[in-house]
Amino acid sequence: MTADITIPADLLPADGRFGCGPTKVRQASVDALAASGGRYLGTSHRKPEVKSLVARIRTGLREYFRLPDEYEVTLSNGGATFFWDAAGFSLIEQRSAHAVFGEFSAKFAKSAALMPFLDDPVLIEAPVGSHPQVERVDGVDVYALTHNETSTGVAMPITRPAGNGLVLVDATSGAGAIDVDVTESDVYYFSPQKAFGAEGGLFVALLSPSAQARIGAIRASGRPIPPSLDLSLVLDNSAKDQTYNTPAVSSLFLLADNVEWLLEQGGLTAVAEASTAKAGLVYAWADASAFATPFVSDPAKRSPVVCTIDIDESIDASDVSDVLRANGILDTDAYRKLGRNQLRLGVFPAVDTEDVHALLGCIDYVVEAM
Ligand SMILES: *Cc1c(COP(=O)(O)O)cnc(C)c1O
Repeated sequence: MTADITIPADLLPADGRFGCGPTKVRQASVDALAASGGRYLGTSHRKPEVKSLVARIRTGLREYFRLPDEYEVTLSNGGATFFWDAAGFSLIEQRSAHAVFGEFSAKFAKSAALMPFLDDPVLIEAPVGSHPQVERVDGVDVYALTHNETSTGVAMPITRPAGNGLVLVDATSGAGAIDVDVTESDVYYFSPQKAFGAEGGLFVALLSPSAQARIGAIRASGRPIPPSLDLSLVLDNSAKDQTYNTPAVSSLFLLADNVEWLLEQGGLTAVAEASTAKAGLVYAWADASAFATPFVSDPAKRSPVVCTIDIDESIDASDVSDVLRANGILDTDAYRKLGRNQLRLGVFPAVDTEDVHALLGCIDYVVEAM
């Protein structure tokens, strides 16, 4: 019985969290939160202590992403999914064009298609396992790109398509671990429970002057916007180191702590190089393996944090994930809706290189034992 396979303790990674969202949260961060006692938790988000967490996040991200002064670091409640809906109200003037190459990129397009005051979005599609090239599209005022398609393990380079229109980048799961020139976008937004190793429930959006102007112009146009979806309120509150409504203070703490930890790791370029090196171990292992193959055939499109690995049909990948889980190695399952016989391995910045080696050894052990 596969369920009975016990991986020898000396093969196991020190930490068994290899999920792609939420990802491993460093224990040091959790300990720091616990040690902060009554300083933040259970206190008002309108008072200096909690506002100091928001200030640390905003200052730290500005440094980490080497932002020009005129870009604003904003954050609020709801995550990237919520941001799609807010963007439909506050950033798309009439029509958006979307690079669609997996579940997450498709979801923003679906949200935009539901907005009764917008024209139907233009979809620029590519098969899963690849990404489209986005060129000028006439008659659109927003281009929606996805930095790292977490459902397929494809990363796309972020460059402005020639043409007018704001460039909105869903960077959730890529942000922080893939080098980027944020000025190639107008809105670089993400949830912090992936590469930033924090908790879900928040979104961060880095806004260019053009994006700020668009938010103001749409608001001034008189379009009815429910307040929680109004990004002008997000801008105003962020500038005061607040969120519009009550945040989970623990999430703010973990994000502030991890932005500073990533800066200590050498900043974005160094962290991105380390992620690429860890993912390289996984892809090289799969290339050499008799039963594993990288799903993304073009090495240039492979994500440096979300490694999708097809498994030979003679082996049930979900059985492998189940055995790993029973042995404390968690969340290695494929993205469900992709429907492939696959493992999806997250090698985010908090994951140690030795643990990646150990994970690959454990997969070999399990497949052998099956
Ligand atoms: C995880 C993820 C999301 C959704 O994030 P939530 O915080 O759950 O809203 C959106 N886009 C991408 C690319 C993701 O990886």
